[in-house]
This record gives sequence, C-alpha cells and structure tokens, in this order.
Amino acid sequence: MSTFQNALEQLKRAAKIINPDADLLAVLNQPRRTIEAAIPVRMDDGSLRIFHGYRVQYNNARGPYKGGIRFHPNVDMDEVKALAFWMTIKCAVVDIPFGGGKGGVAVDPKLLTAHELERLSRGYVQAFYEVIGPTLDVPAPDVNTNPQIMGWMSDEFIRVTCNMKHVTQDEKEKLKATFTGKSVEQGGSEGRGEATGYGGFVVLEALLHNSTHPPLKLRGGEEGLPTVAVQGFGNVGFYVAKFLHDAGYRVVAVSDSQGAIYDKRQLGMDPDSIMKTKKAKGAIGGCYCVGSVCDCENYTAISNEELLELPVDILIPAALEGVINQNNASKIKAKVILEMANGPTTPEAESVILGRGGVIVPDVLANGGGVATSYFEWFQNMHNEKWSRERVLQELKAKMEKSFTAVWDSSARHSTDLRTAAYSVALEKIAEAATYSAE
Ligand code: NAD
Repeated sequence: MSTFQNALEQLKRAAKIINPDADLLAVLNQPRRTIEAAIPVRMDDGSLRIFHGYRVQYNNARGPYKGGIRFHPNVDMDEVKALAFWMTIKCAVVDIPFGGGKGGVAVDPKLLTAHELERLSRGYVQAFYEVIGPTLDVPAPDVNTNPQIMGWMSDEFIRVTCNMKHVTQDEKEKLKATFTGKSVEQGGSEGRGEATGYGGFVVLEALLHNSTHPPLKLRGGEEGLPTVAVQGFGNVGFYVAKFLHDAGYRVVAVSDSQGAIYDKRQLGMDPDSIMKTKKAKGAIGGCYCVGSVCDCENYTAISNEELLELPVDILIPAALEGVINQNNASKIKAKVILEMANGPTTPEAESVILGRGGVIVPDVLANGGGVATSYFEWFQNMHNEKWSRERVLQELKAKMEKSFTAVWDSSARHSTDLRTAAYSVALEKIAEAATYSAE
C-alpha cells in the first residue's frame, strides 16, 4: 500500500471502532486541494534545472492549513497527501486552531550548493505564494528544511507580497506569521527548535509515570533505567534523545541516513557529544552535516534495520514513513514505540505489535509538540509578542499533557489502542467545526 493508502487505512480502522459522522468521513477521504508546480532554479554553473514542488491543503475546518515543507528525493504527491492528512488529525489532537496541509520538493538538497538551496527555497515561495499566508496556509520545517530555509522563504514571501500591493508596517510584521520554525532573529519563537523532541519526551513521561494509570512494565538496562533506540538523529531525533538522556534514560542506539551505532554495554550515549562529532566534518550547503553518527568511536556499527530490532524498552522512529512494516514487525522487541516520525508504522505492522502487547504512541500525538509550538510562534507574530523559552516550554508541557490525557481517556472509553483513541479525539473536534456548502 502507498503511504496515503496507509493513512486512509488508519482512518478506516479507527472509524470502525468510533463510528464517526459519515459526512466527515467522506470529506476526510481526500484532500480539499492539491497543487503541483514546476520550480525553475538557476544552478551555479549557469544551467537551469526544473524541480517538482507540491502543496496539499487537506482540510481547514478548524483554521488555516498548517504543515511543513520537505526536501527529499522521494517526495511525491502521494506522500505529501498522507502527511497533510496526518497534520489535519494532529492539529485537532493537540487542539490548536489550524487545519492540515503539507508541502515538499523532490530533490536531494545535499547535492546543492548554499546558493542553489536558497534559490530553490525562494522558488518554492514564488510557485505557491498565492495560496499561502498567515490566515490561509502556514508552512514550517520538515525533513531537510530548517530555520535558515524558513528564513529565506519568509523573506521571499514578504518581498513578493510587498511588491504586489501596499502593505503597512503592521501588516508586514504579521506576514512573518506565514512561516513558522524561523530563527529567533527572523521572528521565530524561542523553544521551537527543541519543541517536537520535548513534546515527545513529555508524552512518554506521561505514559510511563502518570500515577493515575497502571504503570508499564519495562525491562530496563543497567540499574533498571529504561533503554532507548532512536532512528534518525536530525532535529527531532536529537532533541528527544537529549531530553531522555538528561532525564536518566539510557539512549543505547542512534542512527542517521548513513547508518547506526549501538552501545552494546547499554551504558547510554550522550546525544550532545554524538552531535558534536557528527558536526565536526562541517556542513553541505550551510545546512547539512557531512559527518554522521557513524563517526563516533567506541560504539558498534549496525544497520538502520538492526537498530529497529534491538532489545530495548523504547523504540523511537524519528526519520521517515513505513520503516516498521510487515517485514520486520514480528522482530521488533521494544515494549513502547514512540512515533516521532510521521507514519513510521504501517497498519499491518501495527496489528502485529499491538497483538503481542506492545504500545504505540501515535505520531499525531507524539510529535504534536512541533506544530503546537508553531502555533505559539504564529500567535506571537500575529500579536507582536515575544515569549521566553521558559514560557514556551511550560505552555507546551501543559498542552502535551492535556492532549495525552484526552487520548488516554478516549482509549479507556472505547477500549482501544492509542491511535484509534487519538483519531476519536480529533474527529470529534473536526466534526464540531466542519460546515458543508448547503449549510
Ligand atoms: P531532519 O531532516 O532534521 O532529520 C532527519 C534525520 O533522519 C536525519 O538525521 C537523517 O539522516 C535521518 N534519516 C534519513 N533517512 C534515514 C533512514 N533511511 N534511516 C535512518 N535515518 C534516516 O528532519 P526532522 O525535522 O527531524 O524530521 C524527522 C521526522 O519527524 C519526519 O518524519 C518529520 O515529518 C517528523 N516531524 C518533524 C517535525 C519538526 O518539527 N521538524 C515535527 C513533527 C514531525
């Protein structure tokens, strides 16, 4: 099944149990709007290359479309539709006034120079500026896009808009809210960089330690501390590993696109020191590390597939979709899977893992801290406010704990798994907001 088919299968499975409004189900079976664009980019050698860009506006019943922009060779319409669908569900689960959208460009950005990357980023905005804006559709970073790229995009959007019509200084300030995940210097929010990882950490802690719920029995490594493996050591994977390490968890394996490392003694790795080594070889295009977690000595090199099958308590996929699938589901030993990537577990694999008593904390809850903080950034830009990092993380913690409790209670009410429970929470909220054209 394709990624989008997997997403709709999740919706179908949840619908069987929670019996949502039939009209809403019909609406959510496809995106409201899909847009494809050719993005011409002048390369440094003077040649012209045409890249394929996508924007999917899935549903805006609850507010402006919201979702990141991915730069990756495998980006296609099917993937962007799935990611936009998940954003629709996620924004409702974490209860922010946004709908779901997503975007991407089919490109290996590591093959571009810094200037080419900037031109591509600005080219994306030139292709889609008519359909985005603070109250229309609000993009953000995703795989291979970061604050630097959001900064170029935000700057380009403001430039194009101001060229087309008269804009007051106050309106110009508000235009910054079109892109979230910007650097603080360009109007981004304190705490946005670490927000997705922190949100996942808060949700995991709520699951494991909330005294009102039966505690989960974990195997634990040395000294009984929970062991963790993280696939994907990018923005999300690094920060979730860092928060867990700082809280005493044993991070025993991490990986990136070049491979994985495993601490066989299960003593735990320090994510900061691994990131330092990974960055030591410098960056491509001013954005992407040349090095890898594999440059760290003292650990055993393993493959990304082997990492998923390690005997750990908590497995955190934080890279791409479909990595836990029917080929490896029966070999996954972790008790808890914290889905920090979007769509890492296929429906077939989910059945196998739940069937053996595993717990899957679904993406639409686990990684919702990113978009929740994007909402805080949007809010600050729209109201000309600046919040401290402390305030951002405090508000985020409260939001993630509340979202966890809503999902947990829904799972008890429907006697079902956490994904179905999260869909139930989301569909109720979207149904309340949805209106159809005859009304
Ligand atoms: P990123 O580009 O910062 O990092 C991605 C990491 O995954 C990199 O370390 C890369 O080397 C690694 N990777 C790529 N292919 C891999 C493979 N086959 N095996 C192992 N590792 C691989 O991206 P990110 O922002 O950290 O996003 C990671 C995931 O989290 C994505 O699924 C994204 O949609 C999701 N997510 C991101 C945010 C956010 O705020 N950035 C929010 C919610 C969800």
